[in-house]
Amino acid sequence: AAAPSDPDCVFCRIVAGEIPAERVHEDDQVIAFRDQAPKAPVHVLVVPREHHRDVLELVEHPELLAHVTSVGGTIAADLGDGDFRLIFNTGAHAGQTVFHVHAHVLAGGSLAEGEM
Ligand code: 5GP
Ligand code: ZN
Repeated sequence: AAAPSDPDCVFCRIVAGEIPAERVHEDDQVIAFRDQAPKAPVHVLVVPREHHRDVLELVEHPELLAHVTSVGGTIAADLGDGDFRLIFNTGAHAGQTVFHVHAHVLAGGSLAEGEM
């Protein structure tokens, strides 16, 4: 079982409000904020408040995984045209650098030729 919060984790610190972020959504289960290095016109990270390492750990919490997906769709509709790409980098070889699960929501333009 994952620890609910890790003081050394950058996303736990953002959830706690210890590191500022441009939040676009928050509720009792997740927060969502703009990526500091955007790769699309809309690039938001949807982050469960609880610390889980990656999306495979989230599979053990299917309602939370479904909620992350739903919030991604809402953000794409609110900030873009409704179309979006939802990406979970899983493991260092896949480019995961923050080991607190997060969904990248890429939206707000034509992504068909995008780099991610
Ligand atoms: P990963 O490569 O782990 O899938 O994605 C981590 C993402 O988090 C990167 O796109 C990176 O730009 C973003 N990121 C890392 N630290 C911070 C931060 O302190 N604030 C914000 N807004 N984004 C961050
Ligand atoms: Zn964390």
